[in-house]
Amino acid sequence: MARRAYLLAHPVGHSLSPRMHGAGFRALGLDATYEGLDVLPERLGTVVAALARDPAFLGANVTTPHKRAVMAHVDDLTPAADAVGAVNTLVPKGGGLLGDNTDVAGFLAALDEAGYVQRGGHAVVLGAGGAANAVAYALSRRGVRTVVAARRAAAAEELVTRLGGGGTGAGAAVVAVGPTGLAVELPGAELLVNATTVGMVGGPAETAVPLDVDVGLLPEGALVHDLVYNPRITPLLAAAAARGLTAVDGLSMLVWQGAEAARLWTGLEPPVGAMRVAVEAQG
Ligand code: NAP
Repeated sequence: MARRAYLLAHPVGHSLSPRMHGAGFRALGLDATYEGLDVLPERLGTVVAALARDPAFLGANVTTPHKRAVMAHVDDLTPAADAVGAVNTLVPKGGGLLGDNTDVAGFLAALDEAGYVQRGGHAVVLGAGGAANAVAYALSRRGVRTVVAARRAAAAEELVTRLGGGGTGAGAAVVAVGPTGLAVELPGAELLVNATTVGMVGGPAETAVPLDVDVGLLPEGALVHDLVYNPRITPLLAAAAARGLTAVDGLSMLVWQGAEAARLWTGLEPPVGAMRVAVEAQG
C-alpha cells in the first residue's frame, strides 16, 4: 500500500517540503507521497481525525495557521511540543496521533552542522513567534543562556513566561530585553538568531535588518543564524559576512527539521543529503 504524507496549511502556497520529502522517500526506496493540503481553520479537527483513521497515512507537517490549534486534536505531545506550545509534525502512534515540534531538534542539528561550540557566552534571539519559542527552548535545554528581543516587549515576556523564565526544567535561563537592552547584550553574544520574518522575500520588511541590529557590536567568532531561507543571503547575513562572522542560512534548519520528521514517520535514518539537494535546487 502506498503511504501518504501531507503538509497541512492555509493557504498552502509555495512550499519546499513536498519536493524535499519526495526526494527523501525516493532515496529511502519508499512507496510514499507528500502533498500540500489547504485546510480551512474550521475544518482542521475533521481533517486530522480523518487522516488518523487512514491506514495509508504516514504522517504530516503542520504550518501556519494551524501549529497551535492542532494541539487540541492529537492524543499525545512530545515534551518539546508541549514546552514550545506548537506542533509542526504529526506522527501516527498506537492508533492515535503524537504531536512533535521538530524545529527544536532541527535547529540544534543545523547549529551542530555549522560547527557551533558553546564557549560560555550567551545567545540572542530576535523575535517572539513560533520559531523563536522553539529556538529559545532548544538553546535553554542545551544549557545556553538565551536573551530574547522582540519589537513587542509583551510578546518577549510571554515567551519567557511560557518557557519558565529562570530555566526550562533542567535548562538555562531565558530572559527578555527591550531595544536598549539588545545593544547591551550583543558584545557578549556568541550566537545571534533571527527568528523574525524580517528579510524574507515577499514579507513586509524584505530589505531590512531585524530590530536594526548592529552586527558590528558582536564579538569576533560569533555565529549569526538567520532562520529565513528565501533569500538564502538576507540583509542580516550579508552584514554578518561583511563583518567576517560565520553566517548560517535557514535552509540547513529546514532540511534538518524535515529530516527529524522523516525519521519519526519511517523509523529510518533520513537521507539528509538527498533532501538537501532537493531544496538547494529550488532555494
Ligand atoms: P511568527 O510566529 O509569525 O513570528 C514572526 C515574528 O517576527 C514575530 O515575533 C513578529 O513580531 C516578528 N516580526 C514580524 N515583522 C517584524 C518587523 N518588521 N520587525 C520586527 N519583528 C517583526 O513566524 P515564525 O513561524 O516564528 O517564523 C519566523 C521566521 O522563521 C519565518 O521567516 C519562517 O520562515 C522562519 N522559519 C524557518 C524555519 C526553518 O526551518 N529554517 C523554521 C521555522 C520558521 P510581532 O508578533 O510583533 O508581529
